[in-house]
Amino acid sequence: MYFRSLILAVFTMLAITAVQCTSEAGLTTEGEINPLLLISIDGFQNEYLERNETPNFDRFIDSGIKAEYMIPSFPTKTFPTHWTLATGLYVENHGIISNSFFDYELGERFSYGPPDDSPNDERWWGGEPIWITAEKQGKTAATFFWPGSEASINGVRPTKWVDYDGSIPNRDRIDQVAEWLDPNGDVRADFATLYFSFVDSRGHAYGPNSAEVDEAVKEMDDLLGHLFSKIEEIGMTDRLNVILTSDHGMAEMSEDKLVFLDDLINLDHVDMVDWTPVAMIRPHEGRTEEIYNALKKEEDNHGYTVYLREDVPERFGFTNHYRIPETIMIADMSYTITSRPFFEQRGIPAGNHGFDNDTPEMHTFFSASGPDFLRGETVEAFESVHLYELMSRLLGLGPAKNDGERDRLLHFLRQ
Ligand code: AMP
Ligand code: ZN
Ligand code: ZN
Repeated sequence: MYFRSLILAVFTMLAITAVQCTSEAGLTTEGEINPLLLISIDGFQNEYLERNETPNFDRFIDSGIKAEYMIPSFPTKTFPTHWTLATGLYVENHGIISNSFFDYELGERFSYGPPDDSPNDERWWGGEPIWITAEKQGKTAATFFWPGSEASINGVRPTKWVDYDGSIPNRDRIDQVAEWLDPNGDVRADFATLYFSFVDSRGHAYGPNSAEVDEAVKEMDDLLGHLFSKIEEIGMTDRLNVILTSDHGMAEMSEDKLVFLDDLINLDHVDMVDWTPVAMIRPHEGRTEEIYNALKKEEDNHGYTVYLREDVPERFGFTNHYRIPETIMIADMSYTITSRPFFEQRGIPAGNHGFDNDTPEMHTFFSASGPDFLRGETVEAFESVHLYELMSRLLGLGPAKNDGERDRLLHFLRQ
């Protein structure tokens, strides 16, 4: 009798140790790892839901957690912010400093629009995105768009990925991802992404406070309805963790808020790495002080702040990368930095982003739901840099080096 209870006790201890080991590796619900779907709705300002009827967003939010808002990385542009979400690195540590920028060591420009194919080129991308961490640790990742997902990282790619083609209908993206997540399908993905660009496009064309953006938000709500019915169809409603978020917000632009750089400095004395709303200026040899002083002198008369690279506020995480040039000019909210010829030819969009990441206009929406998330809770605002750690915990992965804190978002999860 004594012997039997001793054996039982030893077995119980072994079982407890096993559970503890796995939970240290990142599991949250009794040793079971649930698949994760990460969704980005480009340019979805945190305020968009307040003024629209969105039954499917509401259903999702009620079944999980919603953050007061999320703080994206800086500058608040699509490529830098998505890459922070995926890698947990501040921009200075991942090197995708804008959507378009010149690298003086490579002697090449990074640019995402056709015919450029820099997104597919491994040399640009620093750090390790969550889908590569997953693949390297024996999991299956499948991406239906995400900036950076088309490139191999140290020779590794997601099991399934798609070359960016904005014309692929949004419903087709959802149907494909549902097939990849289907537990009875061929892929049985542990991690998947979805990406939608039309809310951002509508925001640029008509401004964030337009009826057209409201229409886009409702279209997105319908798409979510479609996604939920597909998840139901594959029997994953109770098993799939879903993170629904965005890369940055959107701000109203104004023709009264223009900064003409050619009025302030001689553009022949600098190289422009990027223009607006964060002008990244590389003064020619020996001219840094002259350019910086000229811009500093006029700062109070125009809508911007200028910094030498080493003085850029630390909270931006935008100092220590060789691609970041010596002089950084950050436009005040709603201002555009441009030149007279460029403005005359191209004008300005109705909406734009890229500004200070800790402003209501640039804050994004964040919600998450699924078996591992708390239900019906609102959580306080947080920085997107921490999501990589949360995702690696959900997937039971050992994280690569990153700037997030391991336990920073632990309170999102059921214990
Ligand atoms: P932005 O210019 O910052 O507003 O970026 C939004 C645009 O980025 C979208 O409308 C797409 O055209 C483009 N985009 C998003 N994801 C990708 C990708 N993975 N590859 C190439 N272009 C992309
Ligand atoms: Zn974007
Ligand atoms: Zn945009």
